[in-house]
Amino acid sequence: MTQLIDTFGRGHDNLRISVTDRCNIRCFYCMPEENVKFEPREHVLSFEEIERFVRIAAGLGVRKIRITGGEPLVRKDLPTLIRKLSAVPGIEDLALTTNAVLLAAHAQELYDAGLRRINIHLDTLDRARFKKITRRDELHRVLEGIEACRRIGYGPIKINAVAVKNLVEPDIVPLARFGREHGIEIRYIEFMPLDAQGLWLRDKVLSADEMIAMLSREIGPLEEIPDRDPRAPATEYRFTDGIGSVGFIASVTRPFCLNCNRLRLTADGKVRYCLFAIEETDVHGLLRGGAPDEAVADAIRSCVGGKWIGHQINSQQFVPPPRPMYSIGG
Ligand code: SF4
Repeated sequence: MTQLIDTFGRGHDNLRISVTDRCNIRCFYCMPEENVKFEPREHVLSFEEIERFVRIAAGLGVRKIRITGGEPLVRKDLPTLIRKLSAVPGIEDLALTTNAVLLAAHAQELYDAGLRRINIHLDTLDRARFKKITRRDELHRVLEGIEACRRIGYGPIKINAVAVKNLVEPDIVPLARFGREHGIEIRYIEFMPLDAQGLWLRDKVLSADEMIAMLSREIGPLEEIPDRDPRAPATEYRFTDGIGSVGFIASVTRPFCLNCNRLRLTADGKVRYCLFAIEETDVHGLLRGGAPDEAVADAIRSCVGGKWIGHQINSQQFVPPPRPMYSIGG
């Protein structure tokens, strides 16, 4: 049972770790094409510092770890970190979110290091739209990465698709068909105000309801999957013909903050109690300065103790977080 309980009674046992803010593609709703200022490499937490943080967090009740970025596979020797974290006592679940451009080359090593669960960020199966969204011509390598994971035996494999309105409508159904054919769950993520250039507008949000209507019309009826973990961000549905399931991470139209169990560690050593947090807790100095474990544990506790009830996207008071998505991690 986690000790990390916030003032709203939510227990925190899920930690997302950004191992780098760097990326090998340039999704327009995440980072600018040029002149991106990245964290100096020497300032990014080492694998040993991340392992120590996870060991301390596990002592406080963290059980699930998700490795994110930027793009985690651009960080050299990631299997070493996977091996270290899968050996930390108390950690029961280890997953990775990647854009899969480098995945085919690393999938076996990551699997041998203990990774089993993988989420692949992919918004479209259309080469031209992939290039338009990511500003890179890499769709073929992403598909190779997915195929490598299926061949090796990863499971579950999920695809995270960011749904920007007036852009990806033609992709919603083909992605679901792809998932049904390959036994992969597609998660549609409502577009969130986390981009570096402030492009987000409410009328660019393709809502879960709109996507459910599209899929039901084009493929067939969907029914919500009951008794799922209420703390999981995605609402999951299955097609009533029994072939495949889809999920919706509807942060904007169906906020799920009241059940939030997630904390984040950024690549530069800040603990964040929310994706949209304005404030954050610095543990970089504690980890690099050799502070005792208890001091790091206190910092984590105080971060959770200061957690707000949830994002304010739907209120007039909403202020975008001071750092963009690529330096927070999914
Ligand atoms: S927006 Fe923040 S509080 Fe809400 S679910 Fe996401 S991380 Fe948790």
